[in-house]
Amino acid sequence: MDFNQPLGGNEMPRFAGPTTMMRLPAQDTAEGLDACFVGVPMDIGTSHRSGTRFGPRQIRAESAMLRPYNMATRVSPFDHLQVADIGDVAVNTFNLVKSVEIIEKHFDQILAHDCIPLALGGDHTLTLPILRAMAKKYGPVGLVHVDAHADINEHMFGEAIAHGTPFRRAVEEGLLDSKRVAQIGLRGTGYADDDFDWPREQGFRVVTAEECWHKSLTPLMAEVREQVGAGPVYLSFDIDSLDPAFAPGTGTLEIGGLTTIQGLEIIRGLAGVNLVGADLVEVSPPYDQAGGTALIGANLLYEMLCVMPGVKSA
Ligand code: MN
Ligand code: MN
Repeated sequence: MDFNQPLGGNEMPRFAGPTTMMRLPAQDTAEGLDACFVGVPMDIGTSHRSGTRFGPRQIRAESAMLRPYNMATRVSPFDHLQVADIGDVAVNTFNLVKSVEIIEKHFDQILAHDCIPLALGGDHTLTLPILRAMAKKYGPVGLVHVDAHADINEHMFGEAIAHGTPFRRAVEEGLLDSKRVAQIGLRGTGYADDDFDWPREQGFRVVTAEECWHKSLTPLMAEVREQVGAGPVYLSFDIDSLDPAFAPGTGTLEIGGLTTIQGLEIIRGLAGVNLVGADLVEVSPPYDQAGGTALIGANLLYEMLCVMPGVKSA
């Protein structure tokens, strides 16, 4: 089988050529693919600074720098998986609830092809409809959620659907296997001392940013792998988990965050886990003046691909 390969920088200048993720071939559906990159260009679920509707396009632009071989982990994902960029979900930018329905249907179709989706966000609202699709196929899934925020608000401004509520809704709807959920990087000011208690009461493991300071997260990830076991696991990575020094181009910044290196350790620490999908959310290009936030997002999505089931190490 001939696997799709990213267009190389010696075949076409990096600033030219197709504007797909990693300059991979584009196709309209997930048919025939083991994994796909898919954009979810939305920001109408955000509570503060906007602009994540431009996230997928900018992540794709910055992904032009990526080469196919992972020098650190010594894996070559494009020799093991058939991967393409299947474009964007046609969200209804005037209606958040309808957009959530559209996203769920779109991911139903991706999963019907037995394809692992890697979503380019978009605000964090998009993870709820993806988890709805996942639960229909796999039953309740484990979750590794990397974020400055728990995103378990009961409501935001009276609304049940927003970028700060997806994991509350996911628990209520039975989409998650709560004992196999880990939230990493939580921090910031709160409203009350018990703000992080609700997820713990559901059985989540909550790892605050302070618990991550000044150290490698490789040992933590060994514990997380133990916790999530062999069942299906979804990875949701909010770029605001990283410190604003690294990733300023996002909507709801919190200081004292994870380093880019720790982000890599988290994702690389998921090798061997039964990942069924992943997303990288909350990149907001209008606040990303040097493009570094989108560049980190593109790299982290590539690293996610490198730990998907079926990618063999050298
Ligand atoms: Mn979030
Ligand atoms: Mn967040």
